[in-house]
Amino acid sequence: MSGSIGEPIASAYGPAKRNRHVELLRDYLATRSLRKDDRLPPERQLCLDLSISRGSLRHALSVLEASGEVWRHVGKGTFAGKSGTVASHEWVDVSNPMEVTEARLYIEPKLASLAAIRGTGKEFQLMRRLTEQGGAASDVRRSQELNDQLHRVIAAAARNPLLIAAFEMIYQARAQTNWGKLRPLHTALSELQVHWSEHGQIVEAICSRDAPEAEELMAVHITHVQDEIDAKSRALGRLPRRAA
Ligand SMILES: [Zn+2]
Repeated sequence: MSGSIGEPIASAYGPAKRNRHVELLRDYLATRSLRKDDRLPPERQLCLDLSISRGSLRHALSVLEASGEVWRHVGKGTFAGKSGTVASHEWVDVSNPMEVTEARLYIEPKLASLAAIRGTGKEFQLMRRLTEQGGAASDVRRSQELNDQLHRVIAAAARNPLLIAAFEMIYQARAQTNWGKLRPLHTALSELQVHWSEHGQIVEAICSRDAPEAEELMAVHITHVQDEIDAKSRALGRLPRRAA
């Protein structure tokens, strides 16, 4: 019986499939028109209704929890709506660019290290392909998209649902933070080329399963992003005086 809801680990962790599970759960909850604080059916029932594994369900629940669509009480179950925590749409008001990179710096080096240990050959291929495409990208938007895809693949390869949920929460906050002129899209293509050479080094460390090196290089990369934001905000701060 339990075998019927099991899935091969590799496919269950594919980023596209995981996103599909999140959408599946979201649609399912919408059709039940739950009101705030209504209890969701038990996990076992949800797995059967959605035909997904327990692991996939938990991942989907943690994503919805991170975005404030459900909340969980240990021992009592999962409930609709948010419980006093910050919902994703409110991040725009409560987070700033430095907090976003600070959070990334806590989590992404560890994800890179785990990816080096747990990543599959297929994921390594994808990381290499994204790095090649990113290095060749000739516009900033495309380069940023590929950047995010690469960081996501690395996170997924770490195979830790809790850390992945934390990663997704940070990236949602990052997308919704008010960046103003510090917006990543204002980064020059030449700066992004430097990022891609850093990505290349990170990916090679991951692919050769050198976990400490991958962790360190990712920390260097995100610190670099942080320094750029810092330098830009200083420059912007000086602009009016220069113009005067
Ligand atoms: Zn990057």
